[in-house]
Amino acid sequence: MFNSLSDRLTATFKNLRGKGRLTEADVDATVREIRRALLDADVAVPVVREFTARVRERSLGAEVSGALNPSQQIVKIVNEELVEILGGETRRIRLAKTGPTIIMLAGLQGAGKTTLAGKLSKWLKAQGHSPILVACDLQRPNAVTQLQVVGKRAGVPVFAPHPGATSELEHPAGDPVAVARAGVEEARQKLHDVVIVDTAGRLGVDAEMMEQASQIRRAIVPNEVLFVIDAMIGQDAVNTAMAFDEGVNFTGIVLSKLDGDARGGAALSVASVTGKPVMFASTGEGLDDFELFHPDRMASRILD
Ligand code: GDP
Repeated sequence: MFNSLSDRLTATFKNLRGKGRLTEADVDATVREIRRALLDADVAVPVVREFTARVRERSLGAEVSGALNPSQQIVKIVNEELVEILGGETRRIRLAKTGPTIIMLAGLQGAGKTTLAGKLSKWLKAQGHSPILVACDLQRPNAVTQLQVVGKRAGVPVFAPHPGATSELEHPAGDPVAVARAGVEEARQKLHDVVIVDTAGRLGVDAEMMEQASQIRRAIVPNEVLFVIDAMIGQDAVNTAMAFDEGVNFTGIVLSKLDGDARGGAALSVASVTGKPVMFASTGEGLDDFELFHPDRMASRILD
């Protein structure tokens, strides 16, 4: 990902090589290339503007000294700024001190939430946790079944509404908030230490969906709310992320479909406008196509 950015930077830095100190014209030429490359990578326009302004300011003010030549100096600055925006250190899941750790998933329909639920639960299970999945996406007829399939593949139980039940207590079938509450209660009773709650998305940001997600958040008070976003989303990333941040105040970002053609600009856009860390990357349809997101590695990859 970011091939184009790294190619452009390499080309520009080549031109800088050999110069003893950076002139304002050098910095501006470099910054222009960075701007163009980030826009090509589909990083949102306001984010590009802010990023390049910071790189420019730091590059102009930077002492070009000893160990680093000017181009290395700018690479270092770009690298540091990228790492910073992407969340700094790798952010781990915050586990609850008592009772089950509650993780809620939010995002647009098709973003990859249900798939992520399977991946995350399998990953946690491999680390010795005992997760349970809760199916709160009651919008799409197939969503509950899809989560059950994923749970089976991951070897993790799924708590789902019970269509045959009759009383309100055992039949929260139509009400995702009740299902979420009941799912957390099930986890407590069956001594699961992690609950992953899958919620409904829509194709676009929608007030009713957001209100539902927000109600679920208030009802179960999750330790983490993970916002799942398709890496291919491009310029829409900013508006979608801001709407979800306002609606559910998410705690971390999961970038899905990083195996596709996307240059990953969405990661930078979303992290930059929300100030939230990217925590995981989803890199395929298989349950093992999932990794912790490392801001420093990603930044190095961008600059390689
Ligand atoms: P949800 O509506 O947010 O629950 O999204 P799903 O989990 O149902 O995923 C939507 C589609 O994207 C499915 O066909 C998944 O197989 C696919 N998908 C999910 N994550 C990834 C990923 O990381 N890479 C690729 N290539 N496909 C993915």
